[in-house]
Amino acid sequence: MSLRDDSKPDTILTHAGRNPHANFGVVNPPVYHASTIVFPTVEAMEDAQKKRFFAMTYGRHGTPTTFALEEAVARLEGGWRAIAVPSGLAAIVGAITGFVRSGDHVLVTDNVYGPTRKFCDETLARFGVETTYYDPLIGAGIAQLFRPQTRLVYTEAPGSLSFEMQDIPAIAAAAHKAGLKVLMDNTWATPMFCKPFKLGVDVVAHAATKYIVGHSDAMLGIIDCTEESYLTVRNAVAQLGYSVGPDDIYLGLRGLRTMGARLRQHQITATKLANWLKTRPEVERVLYPALPEDPGHALWKRDMTGASGLFGVVLKPFSKKALAAMLDGLELYGMGASWGGFESLILPAHIETVRTATRWTAAGPTVRIHAGLEDPDDLIKDLERGFERLRGTN
Ligand SMILES: *Cc1c(COP(=O)(O)O)cnc(C)c1O
Repeated sequence: MSLRDDSKPDTILTHAGRNPHANFGVVNPPVYHASTIVFPTVEAMEDAQKKRFFAMTYGRHGTPTTFALEEAVARLEGGWRAIAVPSGLAAIVGAITGFVRSGDHVLVTDNVYGPTRKFCDETLARFGVETTYYDPLIGAGIAQLFRPQTRLVYTEAPGSLSFEMQDIPAIAAAAHKAGLKVLMDNTWATPMFCKPFKLGVDVVAHAATKYIVGHSDAMLGIIDCTEESYLTVRNAVAQLGYSVGPDDIYLGLRGLRTMGARLRQHQITATKLANWLKTRPEVERVLYPALPEDPGHALWKRDMTGASGLFGVVLKPFSKKALAAMLDGLELYGMGASWGGFESLILPAHIETVRTATRWTAAGPTVRIHAGLEDPDDLIKDLERGFERLRGTN
């Protein structure tokens, strides 16, 4: 079976990275458990070693199960080659590490995923790499922050707590003019809804833990690269010692097959919840770039073909106790980190505590909702009962 060059995303999701007729007709790629790879001759071994990451040499560098997932994601997103790593944070660390050395400077968006900020502030700093955070809305103005030591610009759109969109093509054009690399965390839009390489991004990091795995049952990351960036990142990942167990890779592949169908339902439900929330007196503002009135809507429409199920809700000022009464009693929304699974989640988001370049000025608390695959009307009724508790508690 093969995929035509003009295959659409859902067709790629269904067919990329598998070849049943090379495997007894079995539809899915087998799960290869491996450490040692043995060779019949010295010549065959040396040949494989010369090919490095383009041949099977050692379990840590992947097996045909790994390569199947890497091939499918790269094909869908338009990358040259992808690299599977043990978590989304591992993808971010692996992507950044390849490009920086002591004395360098990096620019990171102020709405970045929290643990990315921690990696920059602590590990990168310890190794002599300085980070400057920039306003996510900076666009082409990023050029004013470039220094001779700047190596890369790190982007994330929309930010996964505050949901600002970034003008990635403007940032990438400025960065490339100065010879800098552009990295993007594309977890929210997934390789389905955003094609970062078309926007000028060099290296994409994904928390595949979220929508690619899609069932809240495995940790997984993907780094997707242009041809020019691939070996730099691949070497860094190899030296960091990352390796992903084949069963988790398999869960990623299995999740990927249904990701298009799931994402469309997540978007329908998130849009329905967002539109209902907008009408509520307890709500100040909904943060979801798919809404026409969202400040990031024009960029979202230009650069993405869909929205996932994660969005923010800024509430009017309420006490901590009142918010807890609302959240504690919810029956369908789990409270916890991560998102992208089949189930709905809700979380208080303390955005004001994680900014340094910009100020988060909302007067009331913000909650982050992941719209799962439950019936949207049941989800709305659960929130409605939550708002009654919110208003009824001082
Ligand atoms: C969850 C998340 C990550 C990290 O992924 P893990 O698999 O949990 O390490 C990175 N970026 C974003 C935007 C995320 O939401």
